Amino acid sequence: MAGQSKIPQATAKRLPLYYRFLNNLHIQGKTRVSSKELSDAVKVDSATIRRDFSYFGALGKKGYGYNVEYLLGFFRKTLDQDETTTVALIGVGNLGTAFLHYNFTKNNNTKIAMAFDADESKVGEEIGGVKVYHIDQLEEKLTDVQAAILTVPGSVAQPITERIVNSGITGILNFTPARITVPDHVRVHHIDLAVELQSLVYFMKHYPSENS
Ligand code: ATP
Repeated sequence: MAGQSKIPQATAKRLPLYYRFLNNLHIQGKTRVSSKELSDAVKVDSATIRRDFSYFGALGKKGYGYNVEYLLGFFRKTLDQDETTTVALIGVGNLGTAFLHYNFTKNNNTKIAMAFDADESKVGEEIGGVKVYHIDQLEEKLTDVQAAILTVPGSVAQPITERIVNSGITGILNFTPARITVPDHVRVHHIDLAVELQSLVYFMKHYPSENS
């Protein structure tokens, strides 16, 4: 992401959330928003929002709030919304199939352009408008792809990771339970849905009245 080096990681993670809400306001024709309104909508406390926004050079005015257009312009640049990031999905099982049907371009400019699987019965199919190729064709097809979503079984996650990294992919959204090892220039975000659910239940039991 361009121009993002000075923004703390925790702030950077909230950018897509802010972006989505502000974009909706913009579509509704709203030109300004208060930190209280934002806070209620994105469930981030207003002190954090004010601190986050100060990194973007957006200083809210008392009684006026923030300029929606200015913030959107900043977010678009920072999140590279003007440029589409091409994504490949590896593993067209239950979860992978759901992602192919999910329209990621609704809110931002990421697009799943192709999918891969080892199962011959899935190869050649088109799911949610995305063509499924055989995993043997990975190197041949991954020529202009920046990121990958991994929805294969954990047992094959590492060897597949090595192949996609060698093909030039620099970002991986890992939905497998396996922890994968990558070179320093590759960014991995790990989302284990079973762990997330377990963690939710734990917090429901032990911290019932607190948010996040
Ligand atoms: P399904 O019901 O289709 O088996 P699942 O999500 O329960 O889906 P998993 O065993 O998690 O099944 O596998 C996810 C997908 O990854 C499957 O479509 C499977 O064919 C595919 N897959 C398994 N091994 C590989 C591999 N080495 N390369 C590419 N895809 C693979």
